Amino acid sequence: MGSPLLKLEDLHVQVDGREIVKGVNLSVRTGEVHVLLGPNGSGKSTLLKAMVSMPGYRVTRGSIIFDGRDIRDLKPYEKARMGIALMHQHFRPLSVKFSSLATELCRTFGSSLDLISDLRVDGLMERELFRGFSGGEAKRAELALILLQRPRLALLDEPDSGVDLESLKTVGRSINTLIDMGASILLVTHTGLIAEHLKRVDTAHVMVDGRIVESGDLTYILNIVRKKGYEVFRGSRA
Ligand code: ADP
Ligand code: MG
Repeated sequence: MGSPLLKLEDLHVQVDGREIVKGVNLSVRTGEVHVLLGPNGSGKSTLLKAMVSMPGYRVTRGSIIFDGRDIRDLKPYEKARMGIALMHQHFRPLSVKFSSLATELCRTFGSSLDLISDLRVDGLMERELFRGFSGGEAKRAELALILLQRPRLALLDEPDSGVDLESLKTVGRSINTLIDMGASILLVTHTGLIAEHLKRVDTAHVMVDGRIVESGDLTYILNIVRKKGYEVFRGSRA
């Protein structure tokens, strides 16, 4: 086994002067699929946003090692060029046409629109991104943008929230395409719903109050969460 593609070491993140992520350690190898579970407000989205240097999400301690290099302080576009892509949980309308951004991504990352033919986004291409999109449309559109980046590391924040069953299956197939492309995946989910549609999940983690408190087999962890809730993980530390 080689060294991990991604290694988070004692990562601390502040938002608005408040510490939200409180010392996360995590290793993801090339091609591995990791699922991150946790109650609302535990800091999952904050962790992913800090990993792509979103403004306002300040890493105050620790490191983000990607491909052997500490990328903690790189700019968002530098991280994107290195192959790190974030699919957001919530979407804000953008003043750019879907087709314009898709064409730009094809040019930048050497990909083709064939990659997203399964996502049923043709009818959205001439619209401004996310403006008036339904939940399912927004998730499929965002996932299309991720696929076109051919990422080495895809950070997917609740791709299964607010989508109907049909879109859920479509989203699952496209994440499987990412897996087939050899991408490493860190996927946040509340319910674990999406996992049933994925060809493989290697490890699951539970985040509570800014810390990863448990890691292990997804089925084992989901069983505990479904029977007893996240409360049992409070106070424990992986
Ligand atoms: P999760 O994704 O696990 O539900 P979040 O990372 O979204 O949790 O939020 C964790 C905490 O950080 C919450 O208390 C939330 O209010 C706070 N937080 C996240 N982003 C911001 C922000 N931009 N401004 C202020 N507080 C924020
Ligand atoms: Mg979140």
